Amino acid sequence: MARMPGAEWRPIPSNFTRGGQESVQGVVIHIMDGSLSGTDSWFRNPAAQASSHFGTGKGGQLYQWVDTADRAWAQAAGNRNWLSVENEGRGGDSLTSAQLDRCAAVLAWAHQVYGVPLAVTSSTGGRGLGYHGMGGSAWGGHTSCPGSAIVAQLPEIVRRAQALAGGGGGGGSTGGTYTVRSGDTLSEIGQRLGIDWHKIAEANGLRSPYVLQIGQRLTLPGAGSTTYTVRSGDSLSVIGARLGVSWQRIAEANGIRAPYVITPGQTLRIP
Ligand SMILES: [Zn+2]
Repeated sequence: MARMPGAEWRPIPSNFTRGGQESVQGVVIHIMDGSLSGTDSWFRNPAAQASSHFGTGKGGQLYQWVDTADRAWAQAAGNRNWLSVENEGRGGDSLTSAQLDRCAAVLAWAHQVYGVPLAVTSSTGGRGLGYHGMGGSAWGGHTSCPGSAIVAQLPEIVRRAQALAGGGGGGGSTGGTYTVRSGDTLSEIGQRLGIDWHKIAEANGLRSPYVLQIGQRLTLPGAGSTTYTVRSGDSLSVIGARLGVSWQRIAEANGIRAPYVITPGQTLRIP
């Protein structure tokens, strides 16, 4: 079972197939042709015979109606192997920037949990970020869902998902570096990585008062494998991005498998 952290869990009583998600090739974007609240009500009506895993509101709301272990009923023959995201709006609308962010968050999460590529696809045999209309009649013949304006925004969703995931996932692994984020201090970074912070300072020519910039890339002293202590809010993809190591390699080095759960305080070997 998988529920996305950061999504509001709003389970529906019916209109999905329990345990029916057979695989996850990617994420399918839809348009509600209506409002978030109206869709939320409709999915609770057994007569609807329809649902989706996720839904966004124009203001940036993100709902999860169906656990991703369960099959939502959003795109007919595409249900078994794809996750679905419904988006508030009318046919012809573009997604708001807040909606693009939320779709990107779902894609980045699907990348982390299911290994979905951060790429646009327009083929039901492909993997990545797709859209309802690409499935043609087999997917219910909704060729105008979500509409050409939103289809044109799919690359932007991928770009934002890549930023969230730090480009992790198969990209070039440099290893031996750490990218500073908000709130980091040298001593805390050293503690989490099991490296004397004085050595990090030395390796990067840093001197008192040891000011770090967000986004600054630090070289880590000492070659070879190191460790990292997980803190609250971390995910494998986020850790991998900060350390310049693909998250799949970290998962492999630590025997972690889907759904890739890590817990604060856990020590990871960094390959
Ligand atoms: Zn649709």
